[in-house]
Amino acid sequence: MNTTTNITDADIWATLESVKDPEIPVLSVVDMGIITAVSHEGGDTATVTMTPTFVGCPAIHTMKKDIHDAVAAMGFSSVEVIVDMDTAWTSDRMKPEAKAKLEKFGIAPPPVSDGELTAEMLDRVRCPHCGSTDTTLRSTFGSTLCRAIRFCFSCKQGFEQFKPL
Ligand SMILES: [Zn+2]
Repeated sequence: MNTTTNITDADIWATLESVKDPEIPVLSVVDMGIITAVSHEGGDTATVTMTPTFVGCPAIHTMKKDIHDAVAAMGFSSVEVIVDMDTAWTSDRMKPEAKAKLEKFGIAPPPVSDGELTAEMLDRVRCPHCGSTDTTLRSTFGSTLCRAIRFCFSCKQGFEQFKPL
């Protein structure tokens, strides 16, 4: 019996909401805008397409496996996770509510860059602790390649910034 007959693409999207970014556990891979397409064409095989996010972000391997396992757990006998190298992930793909979650988590979200990053944008990063933009870059690389370390002059605390891309 085919147990996946009644599964819709929306169900797959809902399942993917439970797959968290391994580096930012408050965000799902859907929040991040990493998933570009899902399909299963009524069969027993599901296909999930994702962007490679940051080149060099080691999390992609973990993410790919987590996505595979979550969708396979829905009952599909075969799950294909395709990394679409042609679609570049930019921080603009991140949902607005994801940026809010990120700030709550203590990481400054990337600004909306609209494809173009200005020096002012890179400089005026809002502190997730107190909201001041009187901050400065301390280190280009934080705990991961995707993050930078900044320091806030207002509350004298360091914080991580998700680099805009
Ligand atoms: Zn602050």
